[in-house]
Amino acid sequence: MRVIKIDKKDWESGVGKLSGDYSLYGPVKQGAFHNFAPLEKGQMPDLDYVNTRMSPKSVVYPQCETMFEYTLDENQPDHHVNKEIPKDYSPRAILGIRPCDVKAIDLVNINFDNPEYQDPWWVQRRAALTTVALACNNPCSTCFCTSAGTGPFDDSSADVLLADMGDYYLAKVMTEKGEALVGKAGFDQDGSAEAGAIDDAAKAAEAKITSKIETDKLGDKVTTELYDADFWEDVAFACINCGTCTYLCPTCWCFDIQDEVQGTDGCRMRNWDTCMSALFTKHGTGHNPRPNKTARVRQRFMHKLKYYVDKYENGIACVGCGRCVQQCPVNIDIRRVCDLMNRFEPGKECA
Ligand code: SF4
Ligand code: SF4
Repeated sequence: MRVIKIDKKDWESGVGKLSGDYSLYGPVKQGAFHNFAPLEKGQMPDLDYVNTRMSPKSVVYPQCETMFEYTLDENQPDHHVNKEIPKDYSPRAILGIRPCDVKAIDLVNINFDNPEYQDPWWVQRRAALTTVALACNNPCSTCFCTSAGTGPFDDSSADVLLADMGDYYLAKVMTEKGEALVGKAGFDQDGSAEAGAIDDAAKAAEAKITSKIETDKLGDKVTTELYDADFWEDVAFACINCGTCTYLCPTCWCFDIQDEVQGTDGCRMRNWDTCMSALFTKHGTGHNPRPNKTARVRQRFMHKLKYYVDKYENGIACVGCGRCVQQCPVNIDIRRVCDLMNRFEPGKECA
């Protein structure tokens, strides 16, 4: 790791030099919200944003993608053959991604790239990705990253971590990919003499995060007892199963596979799906093992805060970005649910 200094007056020209080597993504204002989007040539990421409505996971894991196509027309020589679709695995960089969202990409990687299964599309897109994270000097009131395994200046997943120091950025270059990117941008001013300022800014930012969750007892709970806890009806009461919480979450990875057929030609699509939808678990027989919203809400929280904890021993499947807290239309708050789960004792009602 090394620290470099980037004067803000040099930022735009440096980013401009990257566009020949990378497809660039960054936060841009879209209506009332910021979201990550491809940057046109000459377009700068808006680094004055606080957080985006949607997470940037679609850069690695598109909301809809074609897996393969086929024809059933027996007059065609390749009928009934699944044909691979050409995909874009060229280098891409996300400028201004938040540290929690980079951490989330590592977390989702556990699902898509592990010894038992390697998803070819995820693996190649992630390999093509360079992340330039922007540390949070002013976290939101709904952020609880410091108790969810990350933090506003977490540099453990990013290729480069930018800290905004006013007229300039201090950048921690963490990886070879990060070195390649800053080299192409022409950023090379030594900032090591000021490296301590990053630690000071990190402490100040962490002190602003007063929202915290406790997760220390989740792993000790008996799964079946937690599953049968009496608080699930209450937690789920107001939920309208809209799925907002899962679509905007950087760590939700569930998908559905559908065939789209026109005449004799078809393709197989992979689309993000949500455990909050009744159709997600509905069997072809009509049976649904999660037949009501209480079962679906419970699944969302049990997956993030119990099943994942037990399966991977890697903390919780949440990075504390606070998006679901902000955007749930009926104010269901994962921090409260985590507290109920962590304090749960069988036979004792949780308040
Ligand atoms: S955003 Fe809220 S209301 Fe919508 S599915 Fe999630 S918990 Fe339910
Ligand atoms: S569960 Fe909510 S707070 Fe946690 S990572 Fe997902 S959207 Fe962010």
